[in-house]
Amino acid sequence: MGPLRAAAARGLRRGGGGGRGAAPAAPAALEGSKGSAARGGRPAPPAALHLFGDPAEVEALRGSLLAWYDECKRDLPWRALAVTEPDVNRRAYAVWVSEIMLQQTQVATVIDYYNRWMQKWPTLQALAEASLEEVNELWAGLGYYSRGKRLQEAARKVVSELAGQMPRTAEDLQKLLPGVGRYTAGAIASISYGQATGVVDGNVIRVLCRMRCIGADSSSPPVIDRLWAMANALVDRSRPGDFNQALMELGATVCTPKAPLCGECPVKQHCRARLRVEKELALASQKLLGKLPVVPDVEDCGVGGCPLCPPAAEPWDSSLGVTNFPRKAAKKQPRVEQTATCVLERRGRRGALEYLIVQRPSSGLLAGLWEFPSVPLAPGLQQEQQREVLVDHLQAWTGQPVAAGSLRFIGEVLRACERQHGEESGPAKGSKRKRGAKPGAAGSTRPGTQLSLRTFLRAPNPP
Ligand code: SF4
Repeated sequence: MGPLRAAAARGLRRGGGGGRGAAPAAPAALEGSKGSAARGGRPAPPAALHLFGDPAEVEALRGSLLAWYDECKRDLPWRALAVTEPDVNRRAYAVWVSEIMLQQTQVATVIDYYNRWMQKWPTLQALAEASLEEVNELWAGLGYYSRGKRLQEAARKVVSELAGQMPRTAEDLQKLLPGVGRYTAGAIASISYGQATGVVDGNVIRVLCRMRCIGADSSSPPVIDRLWAMANALVDRSRPGDFNQALMELGATVCTPKAPLCGECPVKQHCRARLRVEKELALASQKLLGKLPVVPDVEDCGVGGCPLCPPAAEPWDSSLGVTNFPRKAAKKQPRVEQTATCVLERRGRRGALEYLIVQRPSSGLLAGLWEFPSVPLAPGLQQEQQREVLVDHLQAWTGQPVAAGSLRFIGEVLRACERQHGEESGPAKGSKRKRGAKPGAAGSTRPGTQLSLRTFLRAPNPP
């Protein structure tokens, strides 16, 4: 075995999120635990301000929203499949894949991934036969890798335990498929099967909170439950899938988080946040003209301590207009983790550098993916102590003694490794690395090949 050289770098990991459409969906919160709808204790019914209590208004709202959707909806590949695919299992699978990919990811990003996925695995059976490496490879760049893994696990379950038949209701989808929560189940069932069941994602939360002036923390369980009840009551009975998609589309393209286009909104006449803004404007202009107000001052719903109104400490802010809604509890500070990452290299075949990579555990952050060996560091460790931790782990990984002196701290980010390597080999004039240059190609400074633990510990072939 050739000599091992190790370089260590510290790295920081932080939590973070992406977004679906115009608004970040929060799948974990929205999907809820299995059976989160059932809650003990019956809350008091909300005030009229927060309800869709008039059946005629509900009918009119459905009609306006669906007419707008028919005219303005975006042309998306999963929507085409949901309409044209005659096989119900394939149809449900096609919707399912799109819904999983769209969690925390923008539509524009998902389209290409979705097309490649459906081309490669057009059926549940095809996906069930794929390897996890293939799934991860196609998912690369989409983020939140456990989504692809869970999707494949659930496809395998449908094939092996449910005879290839997708569960036929939202309730069964949620109950029987791992990784399918309340939102995904509702979306699949309404879009693929025409089940009259609502959905609540980040976009729907925003639209409903604005339409019914809900200013309480929109991520709190009582508000989420109320929104689900509202979505289930509103959904159009004859076109539930289109209605749900229309509501989400409205949130993504018109009722956007920061700059909603209320003037173009197909449901503006049903929106109480907009009504409130209009009343305030009317009041302000009457006052400006020195007239007595002919419209009453605008107040909250009138129920003291209403669980859906904004908290008393954060009343309506006129400068924000409709974007007073929705509101969320203050975000938790992201967790910061420090890791020591070890770049272990050796000279391999024809003198090319080879690097050790190891697979992460099968659950947790970035489950099952490959990386340079890394060790979480306890806060406050001095550099010498970090070195000792690394040496211990390296010995455990390689099964060989590792001299502490062979470890060199090279910086806070991995890019420093390449810089270090460049310094050692001297300046390579005119050999700027090109993206995609082949390892070992003439003039390339690409550092080498990635190897698994087993391959790495095998002695390299002689040059
Ligand atoms: Fe959203 Fe404005 Fe439409 Fe109300 S009127 S739903 S705030 S876009």
